[in-house]
Amino acid sequence: MNEMEKTQLLGMTPDELAAHLKALGQPAFRAKQVFSWLHQGAAFEQMSNLPKALRETLAETCIANPVAVLETIESKLDGTIKLLYRLPDGHVIEGVLMRYKYGNTLCLSTQVGCRMGCAFCASTLDGCARSLTPAEMLGQIVCANGVLAPQGQKVGNIVLMGSGEPLDNYDNVVKFLRILRMEGGLCIGMRSVSLSTCGLVENMRRFAEEDLPVTLSLSLHAPNDEVRDRIMPVNKAYPSEELLAACRRYYQATSRRISFEYAMIDGVNDRPEDAKELLRRLKGLPAHFNLIPLNHVEESPLKPSTRAAVAAFQKTLEDGGVTATVRRTLGGDIDASCGQLRRKYNQSKEKR
Ligand code: SAH
Repeated sequence: MNEMEKTQLLGMTPDELAAHLKALGQPAFRAKQVFSWLHQGAAFEQMSNLPKALRETLAETCIANPVAVLETIESKLDGTIKLLYRLPDGHVIEGVLMRYKYGNTLCLSTQVGCRMGCAFCASTLDGCARSLTPAEMLGQIVCANGVLAPQGQKVGNIVLMGSGEPLDNYDNVVKFLRILRMEGGLCIGMRSVSLSTCGLVENMRRFAEEDLPVTLSLSLHAPNDEVRDRIMPVNKAYPSEELLAACRRYYQATSRRISFEYAMIDGVNDRPEDAKELLRRLKGLPAHFNLIPLNHVEESPLKPSTRAAVAAFQKTLEDGGVTATVRRTLGGDIDASCGQLRRKYNQSKEKR
């Protein structure tokens, strides 16, 4: 059987695993054993409490982890690790492992590329090849845990901020989150997860009702529709007033403060008036701003704001009662921002 025809077990709930194993003549208690092994990153032959014949059948017909680490690149500046992974159909995706004092945070991809078309983003330049399965999202964490294992560490926090738009892959992302928090598996709670979205309003509203209270990171990047329309095509489908209403609804449903991502672009969205307009529009909504000096992408004419403009913008927000942090740039020497490394990899492969 080739890799593409094999069943991806990692994305199954224990109930689904039990059904799969029952069809192979196995008792129900095996599901728990297999679930636990899969999330620990074990290969089938290492699953020592399973009968040998079952291990062999599983190895022939199933994939334990559909994600394989292709390359790791560690930043000399701060220990950030960029991961390139290969999927069973040959697609390559990337992730970033950030090492903080309080623990390890893994940035996950949710799609191969992205179809949202934001003007400043490298992930979207070649469109979206396909969405990732729940197994392929869990598999990225299992791989990163493997990278950390020699140091006796694990991934503690997850940010869905890699390539892809999580709410454009809704069902798979929701299933991934439900499995992520299960006992006996990775057991990562929703308080340790941030989901970043460009603002697919209908799915934001749906997501608010799922009882998956993750931190919502909203990629706002503009004070109004005029600016947002220019840099984020999604804004034409869901104008910012509707978007902010959906944020308010999310806050009501989850009591989680909204985290706004704001890439600071020179001369586009970085004037003090822009900060004041944001303060007016967000009145009454508990919010935090992450100001990110734009990461320059070769293919784009947009440039990062000056340090002075970022500082002034931050001060205006804080004077207005909204906390704002300037995102530290990690991994500046390893193309750590989304989409950049994968593009370089694919381009160099084309040249070869
Ligand atoms: N599709 C989701 C998540 C992926 S991007 C979203 O749009 O939120 C993660 C974050 O990086 C988003 O806030 C995105 O807008 C931002 N981003 C993308 N390219 C960037 C760049 N060149 N500089 C700074 N931030 C960027």
